Amino acid sequence: MLQQHHEATGDERVLELMREYFRFQARELPSKPLGHYTYWGQRRGGENLASIHWLYNRTGDAFLLELGELVFGQTEDWTKRFTSEPGIWHVVNTAMGIKQPGVWYQQSGDDRYLSAVEAGIEHLMTRHGQVQGIWSGDEMLHGTDPTQGVETCAVVEYMFSLESLLPITGSVRHADRLERVAYNALPAALSPRFAGRHYYQMPNQIACTKEYHNFSTRHADDTLVGLETGYGCCTANLHQGWPKLTAHLWMATPDDGLAALVYAPCEVRGRVADGVEVRFAEETDYPFEETVRFVYHGPSQVSFPLHLRIPHWAEDAELHLNGQPLAEPAAGTVVSVDHSWSDGDRLELHLPMRLRVSRWHERSAALERGPLVFALRRREWWTRVKGSEPYADFEIRTEEPWNYGLLNEDLKRADEAYEVAAKPPGDQPWSAEGAPLEISARARRIPEWQRYGGITGPIPWSPIRSAQPDEQVILVPYGCTEIRISEFPVVV
Ligand SMILES: [Zn+2]
Repeated sequence: MLQQHHEATGDERVLELMREYFRFQARELPSKPLGHYTYWGQRRGGENLASIHWLYNRTGDAFLLELGELVFGQTEDWTKRFTSEPGIWHVVNTAMGIKQPGVWYQQSGDDRYLSAVEAGIEHLMTRHGQVQGIWSGDEMLHGTDPTQGVETCAVVEYMFSLESLLPITGSVRHADRLERVAYNALPAALSPRFAGRHYYQMPNQIACTKEYHNFSTRHADDTLVGLETGYGCCTANLHQGWPKLTAHLWMATPDDGLAALVYAPCEVRGRVADGVEVRFAEETDYPFEETVRFVYHGPSQVSFPLHLRIPHWAEDAELHLNGQPLAEPAAGTVVSVDHSWSDGDRLELHLPMRLRVSRWHERSAALERGPLVFALRRREWWTRVKGSEPYADFEIRTEEPWNYGLLNEDLKRADEAYEVAAKPPGDQPWSAEGAPLEISARARRIPEWQRYGGITGPIPWSPIRSAQPDEQVILVPYGCTEIRISEFPVVV
């Protein structure tokens, strides 16, 4: 928090306070190591190390690197965890721990720490991964079943880990992962008006009620929308979600240019080419829109590179500078536009968002477009159960059926089979009514798939036969829904 305050205001007292605090740590930690009083400090030592490095990059105090080594040595060995036999770990500690080997890589220079991060994410997504881009954890890691939840703290902490790794690695994969979590899991964790949040969210969520859920840690109201449903931690923590994403949309680069590796409507001011102050307006409705426009404002004839990410899903991306096509950039790369910029120059990046299908628990299927995952929209009934508006707690239900599968023959040629309808995002794009994109899809009900407490019964292995008639259903972005199916059985 103090680091962000300093970055926003330049308040010098932050540097002084942190220097004194780290001197205190350097004095005390040898006899009272992280984890001396409670294990949280030892699991989360990577955050401590990142703050030490942040201060070192500003002051160059040599003792900070020695302290970094001490703190690294006292922290949970996440490198070993991510590269050896996995266990059932606490989901928020894990989401924070993801960054730790990468942060230490900056001091050690040893590539095996970067490999450990990749191994960890791959392991977590394979054993516990869900379609919204993160692994389940209610509060312990809990497998791939789409009726398991993930805690909102884990969503924002995983985002911050990816945001921390992005400037260290420049990895397109980390940026792709970050957008997937930011544009699916994060809005789904929050109520459309940002006056409440879920404690856990589930990819297949047919009710947000006090009925039974198969969670490892239960507080009865975990899936409700409210100020402090489940447990209060997420209320304190969720605020880092959007602001820290915004703070990581743009970066300075070693070649004295700028990089935009994550896209959103925004504006940036920065210094390039030996200190020239310039500004870019980024005009787009991304992630709902396929085109991102960068308009340069500043002195003319200033030469510097602008680095842009081409996501792995963006085959046949195109770049136009003032209407003239540039060489077609490859998917999964960072393209560098070296140019002598003049005021008003327009660079247009087109990222084709073809409909794609991914496979999940029990061979279920999900429909994706760009960074967005799509989910079945149901009419949602909100019932106030506690408190007064706007910060009340709500149960959410639907009376409409949810036990649909998507047709195998459509999924096999998804880009032609489904129609996407778009409208300009309104005041609240992350809501069922305000969804800027709709997909009309053929679906069939599966009578064997029935309710169990407040969740769906076991999702059938795909493909499954259904003799029910074809129906048209509407899918909208996952982040627009409170009631949803997003991992669908495949029917034949
Ligand atoms: Zn929490």
